[in-house]
Amino acid sequence: MEYRSTRDPHAHTVSAATAIRQGLAPDGGLFVPTTFPEPSYDLASLTQADYQTIAQTVLGWFFPDLADLAGVARAAYGSQWASAAITPLVDLRGNTSILELFHGPTLAFKDVALQALPQLLTRAKQALGASEETVILTATSGDTGTAALRGFRGVAGTRVIVFYPNDGISPVQEAQMLGQAGDHQAVVAVEGNFDQAQTRVKEIFTDPQMAAALADHGQAFSSANSMNIGRLIPQVAYYFAAYGQAVARGTIKLGEALNFAVPTGNFGDILAGYYAKQLGLPVGRLICASNENHVLTDFFASGTYDKRRQFTVTNAPAMDILVSSNLERLLFAVTGEDAGQVASWMDQLATVGCYSVSPAVHAKLGESFAAGYANPDQVKDEIRRVFIEDGYLLDPHSAIGAFVARRYQEESGDERPTVLLATASPAKFPETVLAALTGQDPQTSGQAALAELSRRTGQSFAREQTALFGRQARAPRVVTPAEMEATVREILQA
Ligand SMILES: *Cc1c(COP(=O)(O)O)cnc(C)c1O
Repeated sequence: MEYRSTRDPHAHTVSAATAIRQGLAPDGGLFVPTTFPEPSYDLASLTQADYQTIAQTVLGWFFPDLADLAGVARAAYGSQWASAAITPLVDLRGNTSILELFHGPTLAFKDVALQALPQLLTRAKQALGASEETVILTATSGDTGTAALRGFRGVAGTRVIVFYPNDGISPVQEAQMLGQAGDHQAVVAVEGNFDQAQTRVKEIFTDPQMAAALADHGQAFSSANSMNIGRLIPQVAYYFAAYGQAVARGTIKLGEALNFAVPTGNFGDILAGYYAKQLGLPVGRLICASNENHVLTDFFASGTYDKRRQFTVTNAPAMDILVSSNLERLLFAVTGEDAGQVASWMDQLATVGCYSVSPAVHAKLGESFAAGYANPDQVKDEIRRVFIEDGYLLDPHSAIGAFVARRYQEESGDERPTVLLATASPAKFPETVLAALTGQDPQTSGQAALAELSRRTGQSFAREQTALFGRQARAPRVVTPAEMEATVREILQA
């Protein structure tokens, strides 16, 4: 199994180990398999297996040359999870269920991948006989940073530098992240939004001078963003696990399709669902749910991706993104792997700010995807509605998935059973959830808001309390986007 860049028409190949070790291709593209796996497996036995077995199987399809994938799965999905199912499925009324992806140590779905990535990276370096120190350089819209710090904490031969938008994440997310950093881990706030931070990170990442300076110090960059194939593939497993749970409880019969509604930012989570479908899992529609930064909704509607618009900070901050990195992998797939075309669109996006796909490609996208968005008031209304009708407490991101899925069902008449991916615990966003339930702006924030939420709903958040506020937060350092490169050099003394 070999990998190549989405932007390289000559299709130079690298091994899976190299793709994981580098994170991002040198031309700025994303690594994808040269031949997409076509595994044969028994759907019933695979999807009914325990989570560790499903994960090991999926990783084996993409990374067959890495040693000890059973060990990866065991270490990644062990007692640090609050649910033995890892990603349990909870039924609501009607034909809707919730796939809870937030039972990991940092309470968001990023843990599913970031508990596995350090294991994969360590084995990739072993396979390559590589001994450099890996510098995980990451831009975060809130949850990736914390999950990366947690996943890489204490992992020999690694360091982590996280940049987050100063005004773009919730106070609870910020406190959690600043408390999470361990030795050899730096957290830096950027005066700007997520896109500015992510764009600069990509530039620093692909800067040859920077790479040379790091190499002199026995260091090299890698990425913990979903641009890294080693972070993306572990997420494919929970689509199989969800399917098995839906069959086991009779929601669907084996072989029938499920729809999935996915709160989307960088397009990693939903792309994992598309990969699951390509691998033969019976997936109907993938419902791409966005917030007020609805570039993707407009793209699926029109075939034109246009980032030239106001960036809005919303109450679902992990989805405040105008440039969705992983869409590039989808474009590569639906163009029949036309890297020249993908490179040209990505160039137009960087220079002009927009590109349009052909009617044929647009139609192809519509076969697998539906899309919609919710504004901040609709987010709060949905949290309240679901709590009243189902007694289920959604976080703001997951509520967007619920809202868009309901709209889609009403408008399309598609009555297939639908799985909503719940991407974060409501405990991470107590202010917004409280405002939704009470109809008023809360008088409290952070820990006090979480306690108030517990009182109001009768739910205990003891584990969440410890995970979010149990560690002393360090004071943040704040830099401008232009200062990011110098900051990285200073931290690394490179
Ligand atoms: C990261 C994140 C998302 C968006 O996921 P992508 O893979 O970037 O599309 C949605 N919800 C939450 C809570 C997140 O942390």
